[in-house]
Amino acid sequence: MEKWQQQLQQSVNTLERLREYINVTEAEEEAIATMKTTWGTSPYFASLMDRDDPACPIRRQVLPTLQEKINRYGIDDYLNWKENRKIGEVRPDSIARQYEDRVAFTVTDVCVNYCRHCFRKELVVDRDLKLRMDVDEGLAWIADHPEVRDVLITGGDPLILSDDRIEYIIRKLREIPHLQMIRFGSRMPIVLPHRITDGLVKVLSGYHRVPIWLNTQCNHPKEITELTAEAVYKLQTCGISTGNQAVLLKGINDDVETFRQLHQKLLSVRIRPYYLFYCEPAPGIDHFRTPVEKGAELIRDAIRGHTTGMAQPMYVIATNIGKIPLMPDYYIVDKNEKEYTLKNYKGITTKWPNIPEEE
Ligand code: SF4
Repeated sequence: MEKWQQQLQQSVNTLERLREYINVTEAEEEAIATMKTTWGTSPYFASLMDRDDPACPIRRQVLPTLQEKINRYGIDDYLNWKENRKIGEVRPDSIARQYEDRVAFTVTDVCVNYCRHCFRKELVVDRDLKLRMDVDEGLAWIADHPEVRDVLITGGDPLILSDDRIEYIIRKLREIPHLQMIRFGSRMPIVLPHRITDGLVKVLSGYHRVPIWLNTQCNHPKEITELTAEAVYKLQTCGISTGNQAVLLKGINDDVETFRQLHQKLLSVRIRPYYLFYCEPAPGIDHFRTPVEKGAELIRDAIRGHTTGMAQPMYVIATNIGKIPLMPDYYIVDKNEKEYTLKNYKGITTKWPNIPEEE
């Protein structure tokens, strides 16, 4: 058995196991004992939790809380609404679509870490939404839709599948002539970097007409270790670019210092910041949500001008009608026929010629 499989087998998902890593508070114990919810993580990710601090950013992403019972702002039946599952064209359960040329292909509902803020929590964490993860049905649907050029393989965590299963999915997708790129959405480089084994590297590597990209999710600098760095390097040696899709989480990464450190540290382990997602209104995660403007403020105050532009993610709200960018809007402060007035991150303004469109 490989190390990553041992980690899965020894998943930290009981109170008894949890006590090996942290001093569990009464509130945490009550939530775990009384709530019907899937929770748990790898021993590796559990080992990154602070033993005594219940506000530890990793602990908060891993452990259920009674706050999940409160739902003032969440949307019921959120995933069906968000992924347009009950309207428009008939698709297999495994295919979610918001755009013409790309789809999300859900191949499993199993994860290593059951993130408390997950926008797919009805499917993955609460498990009251049942979908059929029929991979062959999804592959056939994609093959029948020549307008689809880009497939995001998602879950759950798709890298929880065996090497053989992953190889099968990639091979079948690459046989579809209209497919131009494959993306994986996986938290493995963060929650179980041991999964990036030589065997997986063999499956993923090699030059091919259809490239593979991987986007992970890292929300706090504490989640990045030497093992993360090695896993990402291994992915890159087989031609896979790795990006990050952070989620803006109240009390975890919504302060300037943490936010800047997170994005700088990602670059230091070769992960390119890609998106910052507003925490979506899935039910029971109100306590993670900030005001919408917060993400743009953080990019303005922590990143833009304060560190390399490569550290800057695109801040978006992922809605049922697609992603809507919400970047800081302080750049153009005035405009007339002759010129623009532009403002930089320090609030200093400059003039720039306004070039009319050719008639
Ligand atoms: S790994 Fe992804 S799908 Fe799984 S619980 Fe976390 S956010 Fe949700």
